[in-house]
Amino acid sequence: MQLRKLEAYGFKSFADKLEIEFDKGITAIVGPNGSGKSNITDAIRWVLGEQNVRNLRGAKAEDIIFTGSSTRRALGLAEVSLTFDNSDGQLSVDFNEVVITRRLYRSGESEYYINKARCRLKDIYDLFADTGLGRDAISVISQNKIDQVLNSKPEERRLLFEETAGITKYRNRKKESLRK
Ligand code: ATP
Ligand code: MG
Repeated sequence: MQLRKLEAYGFKSFADKLEIEFDKGITAIVGPNGSGKSNITDAIRWVLGEQNVRNLRGAKAEDIIFTGSSTRRALGLAEVSLTFDNSDGQLSVDFNEVVITRRLYRSGESEYYINKARCRLKDIYDLFADTGLGRDAISVISQNKIDQVLNSKPEERRLLFEETAGITKYRNRKKESLRK
């Protein structure tokens, strides 16, 4: 599975349609402070199902919709799509290319799509479960997360290694079964 393309419209500072194609290998995105680099990773987390807007550096859900500037009016919706090459079949759908889309209207209504077919948020979670991507994955590491790791106590740091090694879900299951 490989991330091929990111498209965004109306997401945070991206008032015009943004399209980024990712080649094989490493992609570096550079730009001055405030130019929208972190907004790109926020867009990736959001379309993968991030529900906590504070993790996207906002206070309320609609903060991710373009708020307007001195020369442009605010927009009424935000939309982000990610295109994955799935020729290795890691995502369990019968398509070589998988496009996931999330849309949020200022009215608060949200929509999710897998290859243009409307779906539930849960379908997106299920699709990416155990792939290392997805809502709680640590595939996106933010600036403050690095500080958190460096300053954390050994017990806290251990949790991060457990998450990376895929142990967290077993720990959660154990906790749940002990509760029963
Ligand atoms: P740095 O190098 O400082 O980390 P950066 O390139 O990561 O900067 P971002 O944090 O991605 O920059 O972008 C911040 C910009 O996005 C700010 O100018 C902010 O006003 C703008 N922004 C955030 N949310 C919205 C929104 N809803 N509508 C319009 N602009 C927004
Ligand atoms: Mg940044």
